[in-house]
Amino acid sequence: SETTSALLYLNGISVSFDGFRALNELSFVIEPGEMRAIIGPNGAGKTTMMDVITGKTRPDTGDVFFEQGKYDLSTLDETEIATLGIGRKFQKPTVFEMHTVEDNLQLALKNDRGVKATLFWKSSPEQEARIDEVLETVRLKALRHRVAGSLSHGQKQWLEIAMLLAQDPKLLLVDEPVAGMTDVETMQTAELLREINRTKSVVVVEHDMAFVRELGVKVTCLHEGSVLAEGSIDQVSANDRVVEVYLGR
Ligand code: ADP
Repeated sequence: SETTSALLYLNGISVSFDGFRALNELSFVIEPGEMRAIIGPNGAGKTTMMDVITGKTRPDTGDVFFEQGKYDLSTLDETEIATLGIGRKFQKPTVFEMHTVEDNLQLALKNDRGVKATLFWKSSPEQEARIDEVLETVRLKALRHRVAGSLSHGQKQWLEIAMLLAQDPKLLLVDEPVAGMTDVETMQTAELLREINRTKSVVVVEHDMAFVRELGVKVTCLHEGSVLAEGSIDQVSANDRVVEVYLGR
């Protein structure tokens, strides 16, 4: 069945904060190799969902099965989940502003197993090759010796995505990557995520519908902590309830 072949299977997840249900029996499936866009109004539970997947928040009820049911993430802590190959990009860029692009990637690589990173360790040839590869992917090769603080907002977001890629996750969770980006950067980010999705599964939370359309992937719309609608962007944006609670008329 689709649930046993799933890369990620959220099964009846509920989370309450002081009696308020942020997630209400949320269930959905991400297939191996898939990229999924998650949309929904403020307060729908998108951030809480990401927090549950990464182990930052433990669900009150439900299971989070990863890799064909091999692991139940709801029983693991954040470090264990990261080690299984789940990388998360928060909305705001958090690069080391005083370090160069290349050194940011060195630090990301060395932090792979949760060890406190230092630039004094010499990189292996494999690590150097990996840095070249991810710089190529995010198209920041020409800026590798620039201090990260001097990059544009969009370039910092791409650098942080590269830092996650350096750790070679199986599943990349990306929270509102194009907020604050120019239109050109937004479209380049869609292209970048599609390229990343050739080898990795991706879940991206986003409000920018032009960007979601550009991704061209299956969309899940959350509302009041559960799935309101799921399907292509055309199907979801034609759904009356989605229009009512999210898109507006
Ligand atoms: P979204 O990311 O879709 O905007 P969230 O997951 O951030 O939604 O929030 C879902 C609901 O849960 C919101 O009403 C929010 O106020 C509430 N909530 C989220 N985190 C907490 C928390 N730590 N304590 C209390 N309420 C919270």
